[in-house]
Amino acid sequence: KTFEDSGFAPELMRAIAKQGYEKPTTIQCQALPIVLSGRDVIGIAKTGSGKTASFVLPMIVHIMDQPELQKEEGPIGVICAPTRELAHQIFLEAKKFAKAYGIRASAVYGGMSKLDQFKELKAGCEIVIATPGRLIDMLKMKALTMTRATYLVLDEADRMFDLGFEPQIRSIVGQIRPDRQTLLFSATMPRKVEKLAREILSDPVRVTV
Ligand code: AMP
Repeated sequence: KTFEDSGFAPELMRAIAKQGYEKPTTIQCQALPIVLSGRDVIGIAKTGSGKTASFVLPMIVHIMDQPELQKEEGPIGVICAPTRELAHQIFLEAKKFAKAYGIRASAVYGGMSKLDQFKELKAGCEIVIATPGRLIDMLKMKALTMTRATYLVLDEADRMFDLGFEPQIRSIVGQIRPDRQTLLFSATMPRKVEKLAREILSDPVRVTV
């Protein structure tokens, strides 16, 4: 399998090559075709597997497929992660590929100035990567709206549950239109995560590495 099989545009292929990614990892081989087809996915994978690119690359394609990129309409891609460290890692991975297209990514998480993050979101972005609590804060402050969001990723869902973020996750999902594409990644699938997946994903494909 190669990245060419995914039918990525030349700019994206160049960005992938620039990262030194020669061929897709196992999770990428399995998940990319399914995510690119628009289906919901449950990905059972750990950090280190290359799972981030398996949702970030199709997110870039998804955003580029939108009719028009307009400012101040809120993000198209929303990624929730349990910790500021993971949110930052995802942000770095997203930026590598978003840059080639002028797609803007913002990361918001606890421990940083709310006012600065408010201003950054107000300036507009197509991708937001956030810890659940801080994203709720930003939504309450009306720093962003989710009316345009159609691509939702819950990364390390089991850890988000362990950290007590279930109510925040449910609130966030409830604010995103139901015709979205939803991807849930988790290292393990405890019953509570399985239940959430059943409720918020539609006819998901399960990918395990
Ligand atoms: P992740 O599991 O998403 O945290 O990725 C782990 C590491 O693998 C990160 O440093 C990625 O930049 C890198 N990586 C992701 N996909 C590939 C690939 N296809 N080839 C080489 N490295 C990759």
